[in-house]
Amino acid sequence: MNIKSTIKLNNGVEIPMLGFGTFKAVAGEETENAVYAALKAGYTHIDTATVYGNEESVGIAIKKSGIDRKDLFVTTKLWNDDMRAGNQMQAFEDSLKRLDMDYVDLYLIHWPVENFSESWKVLEEIYASGRAKAIGVSNFHKHHLDKLMETANIVPAVNQFECHPYLACNDLIAYCRQLGIAPEAYSPLGGRKSNIMQNETLQKLSAETGRTMAQLMLRWNLQRGIIVIPKSVKEYRIIENCDLYNFELNDDQMAVLDSFDRLHRFGSDPDNFSF
Ligand code: NDP
Repeated sequence: MNIKSTIKLNNGVEIPMLGFGTFKAVAGEETENAVYAALKAGYTHIDTATVYGNEESVGIAIKKSGIDRKDLFVTTKLWNDDMRAGNQMQAFEDSLKRLDMDYVDLYLIHWPVENFSESWKVLEEIYASGRAKAIGVSNFHKHHLDKLMETANIVPAVNQFECHPYLACNDLIAYCRQLGIAPEAYSPLGGRKSNIMQNETLQKLSAETGRTMAQLMLRWNLQRGIIVIPKSVKEYRIIENCDLYNFELNDDQMAVLDSFDRLHRFGSDPDNFSF
């Protein structure tokens, strides 16, 4: 495994296992600098969303990096308000404009708002047009996937959901795999409100292995075969979070991280969100 390691999605498209998150990265200089630093550090996969308000800055940083578009994997997401307003196609086209790209690698339904099955039809159209190389969902529980599959012609390539040692999501991961959907972990460090780094057992494992707690959490998910998209706007952390390939957790160390699972969500529950 190395920084460029990929897995194949259900339509044959390759996705890098490590991506760079941009939620709460402020549009403008902060996002441009962070994404540029990530690309310089070797990340090849960037995760943004309409609602983050920073797609334009992501596009600018990618241009500035000079890296060929075809060597990068870019994800963006359809926002809830656009789904509710029936504005899905326009919203996608606006995202492409802001990114200044003629395609994205992955386009996701951000949250399972009421009309997600109808919205999926639009994503299928977008996929057919070639302007999204893969389409998927985010924040889908098992029952959302079941409902979607009743009318979907295309199986989502990815389900992106909150997943870290306090929320290991083993059942959802197994279910996604059964359907051929690649699981992708957002908030892989627990997100902004995380207290996982106060866990004394994790602190001890960090001291023993000489790896930071962030590296342990990310490596744990990678070794479980889960795509991870950590976010930081600090260059030293951006570098730390991709320095994951010159060590391996052994079975005992994996078991320590597995044992942290406590069904704890730092973000919103997809069955109960109000935005
Ligand atoms: P992360 O788990 O990536 O954690 C980010 C937080 O941890 C930030 O506060 C960051 O601060 C801090 N941090 C980053 N690296 C380190 C480190 N090495 N040591 C200590 N602290 C660190 O959370 P996110 O919620 O941002 O999730 C990652 C990405 O997933 C998002 O950015 C977004 O792209 C996606 N996402 C998708 C969602 C969805 O609904 N589909 C929901 C939430 C996230 P700082 O920046 O100051 O370094």
